[in-house]
Amino acid sequence: MARIGEIAQQIAQEYEGKEPHLICVLNGAFMFHADLVRAIKMPLTVDFLQTSSYGDAKQSSGEVKLVKDLNFPLSGRHVILVEDIVDTGITMHYLLHYLSGRGPASLKVAALLSKPSRRRIEVPVDYLGFTIPDAFVYGYGLDRSQLDRNLPFITSQE
Ligand code: 5GP
Repeated sequence: MARIGEIAQQIAQEYEGKEPHLICVLNGAFMFHADLVRAIKMPLTVDFLQTSSYGDAKQSSGEVKLVKDLNFPLSGRHVILVEDIVDTGITMHYLLHYLSGRGPASLKVAALLSKPSRRRIEVPVDYLGFTIPDAFVYGYGLDRSQLDRNLPFITSQE
């Protein structure tokens, strides 16, 4: 939570005089997004989208599908895409391409976690919570076979 407070402060400073639009990538980012927007003390708007999940698999299929689209247009908005974790980078790469085609005034990425050793496509992460090693993690919104999203902490499977 301390790290989220620091990111929130950084966003509030960098977006002073603007109204950032924070897009939550469902399902995994829902807790991080909720805590992050609560900690940003300035006017902002939110929206939600959902990409195809891994299902019960722990590896990305390498194919991303949008299963829930945005509710609001992005034209002229200062968009911050809020992700739970950047692993191979495939999802983020797809989303950045998709969102940039919708005419935002700016587009940045906030991710709670990053596993750089697993990267297959380089993607920018402008606001990062923590860098972690190559391990499967769950809790705090992230699932383990759809369960354990409600854990109030993040843990890893040995
Ligand atoms: P990428 O496309 O970067 O490989 O994967 C992004 C998505 O995969 C994340 O948004 C997340 O949903 C899922 N993911 C990647 N690593 C993990 C992990 O360690 N634990 C869980 N629960 N999901 C993960």
